[in-house]
Amino acid sequence: RAGWSLSCRRNVSSSPSRQSCMPGWVIDQYGTNGVLTYTEDIPVPTVNSPSDVMIKVYAASLNPLDIAMRGGYGATLLKLKRHPMSVLGSDYGSEFPLILGRDVSGVVVDCGSEVTHVAPGDEVWAAVPPWKQGSLAEFVTLTEYEVSHKPKSVSHAEAASIPYVANTALSALVNAGGLCRDSSSNKRVLITGGSGGVGTFSIQLLKAWGAHVTVTCSQNAEGLVRGLGADEVVDYTAGDAPEQLQMMEKFDVVLDNVGGETEQLALGLLKPWSGAKYVTLVTPLLLNTDSMGLLDGMCQAGSSLQSKAMQNIISGGVFYRWGFYAPDGPALDDVSRLVDAGKILPVVEAQFPFTQVPQAFQKLEQGHARGKTVVRVT
Ligand code: NDP
Repeated sequence: RAGWSLSCRRNVSSSPSRQSCMPGWVIDQYGTNGVLTYTEDIPVPTVNSPSDVMIKVYAASLNPLDIAMRGGYGATLLKLKRHPMSVLGSDYGSEFPLILGRDVSGVVVDCGSEVTHVAPGDEVWAAVPPWKQGSLAEFVTLTEYEVSHKPKSVSHAEAASIPYVANTALSALVNAGGLCRDSSSNKRVLITGGSGGVGTFSIQLLKAWGAHVTVTCSQNAEGLVRGLGADEVVDYTAGDAPEQLQMMEKFDVVLDNVGGETEQLALGLLKPWSGAKYVTLVTPLLLNTDSMGLLDGMCQAGSSLQSKAMQNIISGGVFYRWGFYAPDGPALDDVSRLVDAGKILPVVEAQFPFTQVPQAFQKLEQGHARGKTVVRVT
């Protein structure tokens, strides 16, 4: 690993923040699982700004985004966010070696001078933004705003299953779906793909907020989603699933974790002319910027969003929106309280030791998630 191994001497006797290199899993190019490489030569991400918080990672979890990013998904837009000058050409900064992993549960080891909310020794959790180095390493450094105190009632492995899906669900349901704790009790919400990471979290959040929740999932996930509080469940593999959904009372909000053909069906299930909202997490934005370049890709995505939004408001009086993950430590503080109150349970389907990160990716890549896949780092 020319370039860094010379300056990266591991000194186990020094404090973590003085240690100069750390173990972790990196990729040096995009591709299939073979590009994941274990190394002990990653420079430690030390505190460089007054708002930085350096965390020793105890557990991480994987999301479909990790599989996609391993293959280069989002590279164009994420590179711009990491190195704004890269818009001028490929000479301006490289994303490699890239550390994947979007969730962390761990302990603060160092803080910048302006950090007030957390301190060294605190147990914290966070969702690592995709443009930052990830959590499949011994340490990760984030800004204070992204970090929150971990719920006390669950282990690090359990806690690591929640932040990224929680920040995504909250951003989608609150910012795009217009829901909140105090306005959900008379709302009917449909969650498609309810058995995965975002779905299992969203069911519990919406039930804690008092909403009526209908879920689509495979038949063998019905017990799981009902156990998390789903009021009604439709097996999407059943031949008459569309008819079953169409016969139900119409919905105020749809959170679509599936996209594709589900989109059209779901749009037709919303209450017309009453402010109902369709929010999909499956958007073409990053695919477009990857395949068409920044400007064309963003224009194409923007015009597709605008035309669908216009079409749906004119024809059915429903709002069509895209939902995105957004970093938000204070929102995780609220989730932490719900976890400690027993209202949100971590749904961990599989756990892997740090030596088996490629196996964890393989598991996720097989699909059919039932909650989350966690990696124990420490
Ligand atoms: P998961 O892989 O954890 O879950 C997907 C779930 O959907 C699985 O349980 C799967 O089980 C189920 N499923 C598949 N097909 C259907 C179908 N037709 N109807 C109902 N259920 C189905 O994904 P996540 O929950 O983490 O994420 C959901 C989606 O949101 C992904 O596409 C992800 O990339 C995207 N996402 C987007 C974000 C953004 O910022 N825009 C952020 C986070 C996620 P089975 O196949 O057995 O039925």
